[in-house]
Amino acid sequence: MTELRHIEDIAVEDDAPREECGVFAVYGESDSFGAAGMTLNALFGIQHRGQESAGIAVSNGRTISVHKGMGLVREAFTEEDVRRLEGFMAIGHVRYSTAGKGLSVNAQPIKANTSLGTIAIAHNGSLVNADALLSELKSSGAVFESASDAEIILNLMARSGRAHLPEALRDACAKIVGSYALVLLTPESITALRDPMGNRPLCLGRAGNTYLVASESCALNTVGAKLIRDVEPGELITLDANGLHSVKLLESKRKAICAVEYVYFARPDSELDGKVVHLVRKEMGRQLARESKVEADVVIPVPDSGWSTALGFSEESSIPLDIGLSVNRYVGRTFIQPKQELRNRGVTLKLTPIDAVIRGKRVAMIDDSIVRGTTSGILVNLLREAGAAEVHMLISSPPWRFPCSYGIDVAAAKELVASSHSVEEIRRFINADSLHYLSLEGLCEAIGRPANEICLACFTGEAPTDNLCPC
Ligand code: SF4
Repeated sequence: MTELRHIEDIAVEDDAPREECGVFAVYGESDSFGAAGMTLNALFGIQHRGQESAGIAVSNGRTISVHKGMGLVREAFTEEDVRRLEGFMAIGHVRYSTAGKGLSVNAQPIKANTSLGTIAIAHNGSLVNADALLSELKSSGAVFESASDAEIILNLMARSGRAHLPEALRDACAKIVGSYALVLLTPESITALRDPMGNRPLCLGRAGNTYLVASESCALNTVGAKLIRDVEPGELITLDANGLHSVKLLESKRKAICAVEYVYFARPDSELDGKVVHLVRKEMGRQLARESKVEADVVIPVPDSGWSTALGFSEESSIPLDIGLSVNRYVGRTFIQPKQELRNRGVTLKLTPIDAVIRGKRVAMIDDSIVRGTTSGILVNLLREAGAAEVHMLISSPPWRFPCSYGIDVAAAKELVASSHSVEEIRRFINADSLHYLSLEGLCEAIGRPANEICLACFTGEAPTDNLCPC
């Protein structure tokens, strides 16, 4: 999704999964623009991963300064805020949180003076055993300012008794279960760590003598850097005056790369674990066409995440692709209405059918997911009102039946329509002529990895961290 998170807000204000954070780090930026300026631009590049708050921590080699604010990156920072953040290395964070946690105190990076020295930390992911760790730490006297997993990790590190950050981090990670892509800043160095399953993405880039780490490679492109490679699952990278050092810090029995990054979350221009997201989505579309064998006159994507998939679907099926839904990009992301009727109105404010494309046609509509089903139903009816002869709904993921424990706010299980309804029941609910989901096998095929290297837990309920909790 590109500017797209706006579109997510557009079409599916109450009916979309949301990413919960993106991280960035840069070491060695010495021109007048500075590390903070580069980080700011990179955060624009990963804005789709979190719109609730943004923050930057910067070091000049001696001290760490932090600025954080609520809202989009452009709302959280003024030019003066960035100018004040002087230094040649920085970490940054964009955040989305679930309801009730949208407080400025939870914005990241979090800075603390610890037994290891001053550290700022930013985290993308979610700890499955956060509650148990929190009560254990609190009962031993720890005091928490925020409700973030990052502060738990920082506390565990500080209490490890280790003198060096990598060992402290290894001890902390031995106690946590879940997903994490971490960037940490000390006055002298930057450290990045990807969880041993590789659940959340993290990559390494370079621009001249400057090294960068980002949740997605699109952030590297935004600041004119080149992708070097992905950070390997369990790999710890240190950037300091001696250059780049890498060590395999953590081991795991299996990889569990998040499938939904490819289906929905990541930007199409990002490359994740060696796969360009746009091309993976096109392959999902081809696979969906082969599996569904739908007969239609026109293929239309649900903007904007459906575009790549619809392109692949159209190429494979030889059914022409067209723009059937026009987006109003100016409705804004704050269109949050407490009543369902008003929320439904929000969809029609933001997406308008182009009657001339739809009237009298058998339409194959391509979307990435059905969460509650409400939005899909509204879209199908929009097409019918515009004169569609038939509406076939094609979804580029298997049915979402389970909530995510690893940092994606999908929805509670009881709210997921596929958790309690068959495909035929959902088809009737959304009033489509047919409904086709991509199979699990088709999804793995499109991603190009075996199922035991991909997290599919929101489709299968089989969480890769089951039975791993040390608590
Ligand atoms: S459960 Fe789903 S959304 Fe969560 S990490 Fe696994 S594949 Fe991604």
